[in-house]
Amino acid sequence: MRVCVIGTGYVGLVTGTCLAHIGHHVICVDNNEEKVKLMKSGQSPIFEPGLSELMTSASASGNLEFTSDLAAGVAHGEILFIAVGTPPLPTGESDTRYVEAVARGIGAHLDGDYKVLVNKSTVPIGSGDWVRRIVLDGLAERQKAQSSEGTTGEEVVAKTGVQFDVVSNPEFLREGCAVHDTFNPDRIVLGSNSQRAMDMMIQLYKPIVDRKFAENTSLPPVPVVMTDISSAEMIKYAANAFLATKISFINEVANICDRVGADVTQVAKGIGLDSRIGSKFLQAGIGWGGSCFPKDVSALVHTADDYGYEAHLMKAAVEVNERQRLIAIEKLQQVLKILKGKTVGLLGLTFKPDTDDLRDAPSLNLIENLNRLGAKVKAYDPIVSQTGMRHGLSGVLVETDPERLADGCDALVLVTDWDEFRNLDYGKMAKLMNHPVMIDGRNFLDKKGLEAAGFQYVGIGR
Ligand code: NAD
Repeated sequence: MRVCVIGTGYVGLVTGTCLAHIGHHVICVDNNEEKVKLMKSGQSPIFEPGLSELMTSASASGNLEFTSDLAAGVAHGEILFIAVGTPPLPTGESDTRYVEAVARGIGAHLDGDYKVLVNKSTVPIGSGDWVRRIVLDGLAERQKAQSSEGTTGEEVVAKTGVQFDVVSNPEFLREGCAVHDTFNPDRIVLGSNSQRAMDMMIQLYKPIVDRKFAENTSLPPVPVVMTDISSAEMIKYAANAFLATKISFINEVANICDRVGADVTQVAKGIGLDSRIGSKFLQAGIGWGGSCFPKDVSALVHTADDYGYEAHLMKAAVEVNERQRLIAIEKLQQVLKILKGKTVGLLGLTFKPDTDDLRDAPSLNLIENLNRLGAKVKAYDPIVSQTGMRHGLSGVLVETDPERLADGCDALVLVTDWDEFRNLDYGKMAKLMNHPVMIDGRNFLDKKGLEAAGFQYVGIGR
């Protein structure tokens, strides 16, 4: 099928590339010329395992193209994905201006062919109808510019025969394993009131639903949840709010464990074996972050507020998380007492491993608060240390390797559970430090191994 993906970030580029890999002809559009140039030259602007290889092969097959020309993308696609960012506003609601700009642009370029417009961006509940209206506005503005007659979008639709439907198709991929998740989804959610649009979406995803590109091709087909647009939009928010709440729950349990002398890793194991609870998302630590959980939970709380409903549980999940992000500072103060004049080294900066994404990463809070308390902050991150200039970090010296990081530090804080941090030469690192203290912010390291290497080990809730 002919597909256009607008916005080539973590979601758009992965979606476009994977759809090209399974045989569709995809044009990816982005208004960032630099990014388009980079992608045309065969390079990925983001770090995502397996993505570059797929981009190379899909581009070589002629199935994947990049452009900044929205008109060309709209003309090409029978299915048009909107995958631009919806960052949070200071009030907590989503900033939908990028979605609006794209919808208006699509309206300005629609031709007589039937198109399906797919909201892949996480958008506030009710955005399906809103996108439709903006597209019609764009269409009416084009008509007005061409004929100087004032017409409404609906009149233009009647006159020109332009036909389109809007589908909500929320994305659940996880950064760091986004390609894997796209080929092995737990479910696909489609929201629309148009059977024609639904049929096209089913055809588009058929190879993935049939697990043709899955790790385990013998599994039953991927469940497809077909529902109305608002429910599809709500599914995305509810899923993220649930996961964020689950982490805040175990962090709260960890804080109680710390006080009563229990070990939260054992508690998590003990409760996670209950099939009603499940073991995932029960790792206590320094809190959740990234570009999705904080903004999606806040947006849902904000939507509830708009309807006069106070979402107590979700608000509490956010509050627990805000407090949790300071837990490493509390632990550093317990061990080092005064932080002014001390040097603290951070192992990891990204909000999770296997990504270069720093949006709303707990490391940023830590750096800010350590600086405020007069500590010098250094960091080593397997990806950011290679691409540091790109991230515009401030208040932190980004070192090129873990040993340079350890040199002269009064304590280390493990912030991101990168796999390579399991096997660093901690014996050597301990000798390079003023005080070999390790605050394990993810309960990720081997406590006994660290202690044997000479570290004072401090976990979360252990
Ligand atoms: P991103 O910021 O990485 O990428 C957005 C891209 O859109 C950028 O490349 C930007 O240049 C481009 N863009 C902005 N305005 C444009 C325009 N007018 N025309 C063309 N391109 C334009 O965002 P992301 O992380 O990929 O997230 C996209 C959406 O998907 C968001 O709504 C997000 O909430 C949702 N989502 C993200 C994830 C994730 O893990 N990142 C997971 C699920 C859902």
